[in-house]
Amino acid sequence: MPPSLNQDALLAWFAEHQRDLPWRQLKDPWPILLSEILLQQTQVSRGVVFWQRIFERYPTVQSMADSTEEEVLFLWQGAGYYSRARRLFRLAQVVCSPSSDGGHGGSLPTTARALEALPGVGPYTAAAVASIAHGEAVACVDGNVRRVMARQTAETSPSPASVQSWADAALWSPDAGNWNQAVMELGATICTPKSPKCTSCPIASSCEGRQEPARYPAPTLRRKKRLDLMCILRLDARGWPELVQRDATGILAGMWGPVMAESLDVDSLAYLGEVHHVLSHRDMHIRVWKGAVDSGVDPQSVPLSSLDVKILSLGGAE
Ligand code: SF4
Repeated sequence: MPPSLNQDALLAWFAEHQRDLPWRQLKDPWPILLSEILLQQTQVSRGVVFWQRIFERYPTVQSMADSTEEEVLFLWQGAGYYSRARRLFRLAQVVCSPSSDGGHGGSLPTTARALEALPGVGPYTAAAVASIAHGEAVACVDGNVRRVMARQTAETSPSPASVQSWADAALWSPDAGNWNQAVMELGATICTPKSPKCTSCPIASSCEGRQEPARYPAPTLRRKKRLDLMCILRLDARGWPELVQRDATGILAGMWGPVMAESLDVDSLAYLGEVHHVLSHRDMHIRVWKGAVDSGVDPQSVPLSSLDVKILSLGGAE
């Protein structure tokens, strides 16, 4: 059974308690899309910093399309999951291509269905942008919504289809964007994974899982996969490192860094130490050796991931 939420109470709570996030003042779909893509795998506090930096440089989708992938990656440095930046750049190019070439002539599509056809846009992002920017009556489902719905219905392992149908049934269609943000905000700030603040919850009266919220939804055991890599940090006489561009796919997609692989010939090289880097689904251990190169690259001149910055500082690269 879908939860029977008190919509007025949730909307009133949201009006009073919502966090002051800069994109919430805007109805333009471009900054909203940028915020949704950034927040997919970045905490809100850091996401705001990156959003401001990127939106200042690219206030329109056209301004990003006119830029280069390398510059987008530069601005994305430190935000992680760099394939997002590459896909966003591709999206900008598709949107700004003429419609005769399959593009959208410089304007983001307005419906969730059309948005979902763009590079890097999944059902959640498409629904968020279409509802917030254009008021389309589509329900967003992210991790926060899933948790709220699982607790409201006291379901330990609801299927994605069930959660989507509950979210669809609960949607307040006169202002779907505001409603979606209200449910997500509740999940982010009140109905949190640990220690939910049920006494401050505006929809506690309909919550079937309120007595034992920690049971809903049942935690999914997602063990981080350990990844062991070797890296050779070769420096020139100035202290500049040899840097190569990473593959086009994967977590470091398109960024630059020292040579790194599962197996490297490190005979006769000096061992520097190990760098440990934790991502949401990866536990990376990189053993680093030091070597020499005739001519390195100025590390300020290319986009580097946080992991590569750690490796460079281990070796004292300039
Ligand atoms: S009453 Fe508690 S568990 Fe239920 S929705 Fe509200 S915060 Fe979540």
